[in-house]
Amino acid sequence: MIETLDIKTTKTQHSRLAETDFDNLPFGKHFADHMFVADYADGEWKNFEIVPYGPIDMSPAISALHYGQAFFEGMKAYKHADGTVTIFRPDKNAKRFNKSAERLCMPELPEDIFVQSIAALVDLDRDWVPSQANHALYIRPFMFATDPYLGVTPSATYKFMVLICPVGPYFSKTLRVKIEDYYTRAAEGGMGYAKAAGNYGAGMLPAKKAVEEGFDQLIWTDGKEHAYIEEMGAANAMFVLDGKVITPSTRDTILDGVTRDTVLALAREWGYPVEERRVSVAEIIDGAKNGKLQDAFGAGTAATIAPVGSITYDGEEYFLSDPKTREFSQRVLKELDAIKYGAKADTHGWNYVV
Ligand SMILES: *Cc1c(COP(=O)(O)O)cnc(C)c1O
Repeated sequence: MIETLDIKTTKTQHSRLAETDFDNLPFGKHFADHMFVADYADGEWKNFEIVPYGPIDMSPAISALHYGQAFFEGMKAYKHADGTVTIFRPDKNAKRFNKSAERLCMPELPEDIFVQSIAALVDLDRDWVPSQANHALYIRPFMFATDPYLGVTPSATYKFMVLICPVGPYFSKTLRVKIEDYYTRAAEGGMGYAKAAGNYGAGMLPAKKAVEEGFDQLIWTDGKEHAYIEEMGAANAMFVLDGKVITPSTRDTILDGVTRDTVLALAREWGYPVEERRVSVAEIIDGAKNGKLQDAFGAGTAATIAPVGSITYDGEEYFLSDPKTREFSQRVLKELDAIKYGAKADTHGWNYVV
């Protein structure tokens, strides 16, 4: 445990805060004034710096560009009515950051350095945390290889950086989803559990095809049989089937989501039966047919809860109930908003106060 991280801070001379329209904040397009940068070389992390947000210099030969030695994290900071700024469960992201690093032969970043660097950056740019309802500051930590070398071997040098973006409300429109039975997001033995950059590039073509067919999102199935549900786009898939909260168990093809974990914790507290196990396409489609599928949603940091309106499988579209009438996902959404924005006491220790 380090005491406090020694961070060199260079403040911007031209804040963009006043010219940023906080009532029009598309996701990931507006960056706060500063960013965090650190270097890994000679077996250690060093040069912890906060600098004005802007381009960086790098070799075109870095393995991040050629072989995908790159991964990221995503979380949010919220402003409470009394001005307090909190980050939701950054300790979970710190742990997952290192799981991704290990899978990609990249160096571990001590958890306290991860959390402290983010807290220092958010603290400096705390005026960038929006105060309007349902707005937040999106936090994007990432790491990438920086050796100027084309050999297919792990780099010896890396950069850890953090970008922050004020973001508006995520309009969680009811999703028309399709169960994907050709493409796969992740294979056993692969890197689906890592937030590896390459996983998202690989998902773009299937997602684009689904959009062309009129869908909003894909439900990924397993790579072997396409018989089991894995995830929904870049969110975890969750269902309420016959009164039970059901979600695919985490394994090497599934990203261990912080939102997923949080939803399951609340479900257990509220006394719902919870099942983390393999979830077959057949039981979900049967449930949609016989009315036992009471709820279906994607769980992730961006939307929190993204309700599914209909599921298409084998050319047949199955419609679910109106999301506003669903007991479980509505209750989760309300509870999580209350905790994140400080309207309700944080009895779980989920809010990290900046
Ligand atoms: C980020 C992500 C999630 C959601 O994780 P959270 O920690 O809840 O934001 C789920 N699936 C995939 C593939 C992801 O990349």
